[in-house]
Amino acid sequence: MNIIAELRHDFPLLTRTVDGQPLIYLDSGATSQKPQCVIDEINDFYRKNNANVHRGLHSLSEITTSKYEQVRVKLAKYLAVSAQEIVWTSGATESINIVAAGIAKSLSQGDIILISALEHHANIVPWQQAAKLSGASLQVMPVDQQGVLDLASALDMIAQLQPKVVACTHASNTLGNINDVEAIIKAAKKADSVTVIDGAQAFLHLRPNLSHLDCDFYVGSAHKALGPTGVGFLFGKYNKLNALPIFKTGGEMIETVTFSTTTYRNAPAKFEPGTPNISGVLGFGAALDYLDNIDYDRLQTYEQALFRYCLDALQNIEGITIYGDTENNIGTISFNYRAEHHYDIATLLNSYGVALRSGHHCTQPLISELGIAGTLRVSLAFYNSHADVDAFISALKSSIELIEG
Ligand code: PMP
Repeated sequence: MNIIAELRHDFPLLTRTVDGQPLIYLDSGATSQKPQCVIDEINDFYRKNNANVHRGLHSLSEITTSKYEQVRVKLAKYLAVSAQEIVWTSGATESINIVAAGIAKSLSQGDIILISALEHHANIVPWQQAAKLSGASLQVMPVDQQGVLDLASALDMIAQLQPKVVACTHASNTLGNINDVEAIIKAAKKADSVTVIDGAQAFLHLRPNLSHLDCDFYVGSAHKALGPTGVGFLFGKYNKLNALPIFKTGGEMIETVTFSTTTYRNAPAKFEPGTPNISGVLGFGAALDYLDNIDYDRLQTYEQALFRYCLDALQNIEGITIYGDTENNIGTISFNYRAEHHYDIATLLNSYGVALRSGHHCTQPLISELGIAGTLRVSLAFYNSHADVDAFISALKSSIELIEG
C-alpha cells in the first residue's frame, strides 16, 4: 500500500457516502479536504483559547496572539521568505485586490498591465478595474490551441511592451498547466515590471520557494492547501509591500488616530485592520505542520503517477477530448465527451458519488479561447487513491452508456 495514499485516513470526510454511494472526491482544485489535525486545531481554539489577538494583556489573548503570529512565521519559513512579508487576508482574491488596487494608484494612461490568458477571474477582474481607474491598458499573453501558455510570445511581449505589471498564475485552475513563472519573472525583472504570481492552485502541489522564484508578490488561499476557508495570504517583498497604499481601514492597522488624521503602521499590520480570522489562521498553521511532515518528493511522485494513471484511463475512452498541458501539470484534467454538455455528465457522475467540477471554472476568457462552452474537471490531490480513479472511470463509462442509450 502506498504510504502517501494511506494519508487519506487523516481526512474524515473522505469516508462519507453521498446518496448511499461512497464519495469519490475529485474537486480539490475548488477546495481541498481537511485533515483531522486542522479540524482539531479550530475546535481547540474555540474550546480552550478563544480570545482576540494583539489586544488583551490577559493570558488567553497572549497565548492566542503568540500562536497566531507563530503561523505567520511558519508560512514564511514554508515559502522561504520573512514573516514581515506575509499579510493575512481572506484569500487569494482579496490578496490580488490589495495589490491591484494599490498599484492602480501609481499607473497612468499609456501604462500596460500584462496578464496571461490562463488567469482565474480573480486575477483578471481586479486588473481590469485597475486599468479602468488609472487609464492603463490590459494586455494578454496568449495560449495555444491546447490552452498552453505560448512562452516565446509571452517573453517577447514582456520585452516589447515593458509592462508596469506582469500578473500570471503559477498553475491553471482549469487545465492544471504549470507555467514557467521563473522565466516570466526573469523577463519581467529585466523590463522593470512588478511581478504578481497567483499561487492559489500551485501552493499545495508545488511548494513554491519564493526566495528562489524572486517574484514581488505571491498569493494563496489556505482552503486549497488543507486549511480552512476564509483565510489566505499575500506575500510581498518588504519594500514593495510596505510601499503599497492601504486597502481597507479600521482598528489595529493604525499608529495614531485623531478626528482629523490617521497614521498607519508598517506592513503587514497596515493591511490587517479589524479582528482577523484567528481560527482560520490557526487551522492553516495545523495544515502547514501537516504538509511539512510529508516527504515532498514522495508526494510529488505519487501525485504525478496518479495523474498519469487517470489520464491514461481517460485517453482510452473513445470520444474524450483532453485540454491543456499534460506534461507539466499539478494533477488537474479538463475534458469533454464528444459534444455532450459537461453539465449533464457531471450530474450523472454525481449520482455515482463522483464529485468533480464542470463549467468555465471562473476562467471564461480561457474557455472561450478554447472554443468550447466548458469542461469537466478532475482535480486530484495526494489523498486520492487509484481506487478513486477506477471508480470515477467506471462511473464515467456508465454515464456515457446512459447518454448514448
Ligand atoms: N486563483 C486561482 C488560480 C484559483 O484557482 C482560485 C480559486 N478557484 C482563486 C484565484 C481565488 O481563490 P479564492 O476564491 O480562495 O480567493
